[in-house]
Amino acid sequence: MTARIIDGKAFAARLRARVATQAAAFAEAAGRPAGLAVVLVGEDAASSVYVRSKGKATREAGMAGFEHRLSADVRQDELVALVERLNADPAVDGILVQLPLPAHLDADAVLLTIDPDKDVDGFHPVNAGRLATGLPGMVPCTPYGCLLLLQDELGDLSGLDAVVVGRSNIVGKPMAALLTAASCTVTIAHSRTRDLPGVIGRADIVVAAVGRANFVQGAWLKPGAVVIDVGINRIDSGLVGDVDFAAALPVAAAITPVPGGVGPMTIACLLRNTLVAAHRRAGLAFDEGRA
Ligand code: NAP
Repeated sequence: MTARIIDGKAFAARLRARVATQAAAFAEAAGRPAGLAVVLVGEDAASSVYVRSKGKATREAGMAGFEHRLSADVRQDELVALVERLNADPAVDGILVQLPLPAHLDADAVLLTIDPDKDVDGFHPVNAGRLATGLPGMVPCTPYGCLLLLQDELGDLSGLDAVVVGRSNIVGKPMAALLTAASCTVTIAHSRTRDLPGVIGRADIVVAAVGRANFVQGAWLKPGAVVIDVGINRIDSGLVGDVDFAAALPVAAAITPVPGGVGPMTIACLLRNTLVAAHRRAGLAFDEGRA
C-alpha cells in the first residue's frame, strides 16, 4: 500500500475561493465588507510573515483587512485599549492578536479582552466552552482545518477510533472536541501516555500535534490509518512534520504532507471564521457549503 497524499494546499485554495464568493454576497447583503483586524506586537520575523500573509489573504477574499503594528515595548494597558477599540468597531468582525507576545505582556489577559464573538482564533475560554458543550462559537482554525480534511477523505467519521497526540489548548484539545462531536471514539495522548505505539496502533485516525520532528513512527500505525500531521519543525533538510512521512507512506491509507497539508488550511479557516462572525453579527444566515 502507498498512502494517498492529502493535498491541503488544493483543498485550502477551493475553500478560499468559496469564502471569496460568500464574502461578496455578504458585502452585498450587509452593505459593507466583512473585516478582520490583526494585531502584531514587535518585530518577530516569523510573526511578521504570518501577519503579512493573513492580510494579503483577507484582501484577496474580498474582505477588509486592518493591520495594527505596535512596538515591542508597548504597555499592557495600551494593547488592551486597542483590543477594546476593535471590540467596539462595527467594521471589525474578527480580531486576531498574533502570538507569541513579548515576555512583559500577559497574553492570557489580552486574549480574555477579545469579544468572544469576534475571537476568530477561537482561543477565548468562552469559545472553548462552547465547543466543549456543542454550542455555536468560534472554532480554532488549525483543528477545524484538520477536521475538514478528514471529512473530505473519509466522509462520515462516526464510530472511528481517533488518537490525537498532543493536548495543547490551540490544537490538541479542540481537535479532540471536534472529533468527539463527529462521533469518533477519541483518545488524547501526551508526554505521560504509557505505550504510545500501542495507543496509536489501534487508531483509524491519527492527528499528530507534538512539535517533535518525525516523532510518530510508521511502524506504530495501524495499516490503513488516515494520518493528519499538524507539526511544523525546521531541521537542516527543511520543514518536516511530527510524523516520519517516508515510513508512514507504505502503512497509512492517506496522509498530509509537510509542507502543503494542514498549514494552508489554517489561513483558509481563519477567513471562513471571519465570515461566520460577520454573518452572526449582521444577523444573516451563513451557508457552509462544500469546498
Ligand atoms: P505544544 O503546545 O508544545 O504541545 C505539544 C503537545 O505534545 C503537548 O501536549 C505535549 O504533552 C505533547 N508531547 C510532547 N512530547 C511528547 C511525547 N514524547 N509523547 C507524546 N506527546 C508528547 O504544541 P502545539 O502548539 O499544540 O503545536 C504542535 C505542533 O503543531 C508544533 O509543531 C506546531 O508548530 C504545529 N502547529 C502547526 C499549525 C499549522 O498551522 N499547521 C498550527 C499550530 C501548531 P504534554 O502536554 O504532556 O507536555
